[in-house]
Amino acid sequence: MTHRAIFLDKDGTLIDDVPYNVDPDQMRLAPKAGIALRRLARDYRLFVVSNQAGVAHGFFGEDALPAVEQRLRQLLAGEGIALDGFYYCPHHPSGADRRYRCRCTCRKPQPGMLLQAAGEHLLDLGQSWMIGDILDDIEAGRRAGCRAVLIDNGGETEWQMSELRQPEFVVADLDLAADRILASQPPPSNIPVIDPIGQQASLETGGNDHARRSMGRRPETAVRPAR
Ligand SMILES: [Mg+2]
Ligand SMILES: [Zn+2]
Repeated sequence: MTHRAIFLDKDGTLIDDVPYNVDPDQMRLAPKAGIALRRLARDYRLFVVSNQAGVAHGFFGEDALPAVEQRLRQLLAGEGIALDGFYYCPHHPSGADRRYRCRCTCRKPQPGMLLQAAGEHLLDLGQSWMIGDILDDIEAGRRAGCRAVLIDNGGETEWQMSELRQPEFVVADLDLAADRILASQPPPSNIPVIDPIGQQASLETGGNDHARRSMGRRPETAVRPAR
């Protein structure tokens, strides 16, 4: 039995964006996040997948992140919503802290966090969605074999488009994202999965086979589920 998932970017998507903020007191849920996620939670497991390059840049320690997760869970619990998982990437290729300076497979637009969640929670990526406020979120979702919705709220400023950065829908807020997702038909069975090094999975074996092989494999640089 596999589950469908909604992967949510955190900053600018699920909570109001305050750059590199890890102060739990400054965290506020994005407009309509509560109603949107309550609707989605009937059919989907909910996961946060968040780039936290502030760790690599030395802006805050990785030990600040459990309190962020805890506050997020508290805010969502206040709306009657339970998160199924919280994943973050603490890396950056030009980070100041050498322990976190690397080209990992978990930093979005790479799909490592989604693939790890799929392996740990038996998720059907082809039936799952990524929601984010920048095109790197869209690309991570598409590389994992998911469909993706862009919340166009000013987070994306560069608009570097490519085939993999094409969202299924572009909407103004999370509740409109929920409308579009819940009204969507299941995808065709052969959505190609794109692997982390950027090459298209072989189409003759079908994307889903590739996803299954990828699911159990940890990225070379481990993503840390913060619990
Ligand atoms: Mg964001
Ligand atoms: Zn990473």
